[in-house]
Amino acid sequence: MEFIELKNVFKVYTNGVTALADANLSIEKGEFVFIIGQSGSGKSTLTKLLYREEKPTKGSVFVGGVNVSKLRDNNVYKLRRKIGVVFQDFKLLPKLTVYENIAYPLESYGMASKDIRDKVLSAVERVGLKEKIRSYPNQLSGGEQQRVCIARAIVNEPKLIICDEPTGDLDPKISQEIMEVLKNINKDLGSTIIMATHDKEIVNTMKQRVICIHNGVIVSDKKKGSYIENEDN
Ligand code: ADP
Repeated sequence: MEFIELKNVFKVYTNGVTALADANLSIEKGEFVFIIGQSGSGKSTLTKLLYREEKPTKGSVFVGGVNVSKLRDNNVYKLRRKIGVVFQDFKLLPKLTVYENIAYPLESYGMASKDIRDKVLSAVERVGLKEKIRSYPNQLSGGEQQRVCIARAIVNEPKLIICDEPTGDLDPKISQEIMEVLKNINKDLGSTIIMATHDKEIVNTMKQRVICIHNGVIVSDKKKGSYIENEDN
């Protein structure tokens, strides 16, 4: 079995919207995969199924051999510890410093403070933000805040990193820098990265696997793909 597998997955929300229809997918350990498609096509839904923010209506979702669709609610935290998530809108805690924002998830695991410090310092170094550890989020640029989020996502060395439009609010130059950080994490730590995005420029320059969703249906899946939403265009 591959690291990630979706088998005949359907997601129908309670309002009747089918966000994903008969999705089948497998992703190997260490891959870098883009999920592209228009707004509302089902990209976020697909990522939410992986970290069990949503459950499939039908079908199964496997992450690291675990059927996450069947996971009991009181075991979801075990899955979440193995997955780092990065969002468009950062979701940093405004009253905590950079250091504290990154340390926060580890503290909730009850880890010893020396181990926390080592992990946080290694994560901020990897994203190139060591000199800002005492700053607060509102003292940082958008690109820097996103680096903090990436550091928070990788601090526990997860096998899987999910990014939902991580460059959505950043200008092109900063977006490219963020992609460099993600590319190096994928290469150096071997983490699997799944990134939902609209950003044509990024998808086209990265030359990675590209999975395209249209109206909840996976319409293409290409190695070293480019941003083509609709083959007819
Ligand atoms: P994308 O990430 O590609 O923009 P989403 O996965 O967010 O797409 O949404 C897919 C479809 O599901 C859209 O029609 C959206 O309105 C709908 N949807 C998403 N989340 C919910 C929800 N919690 N309840 C009802 N409908 C939802």
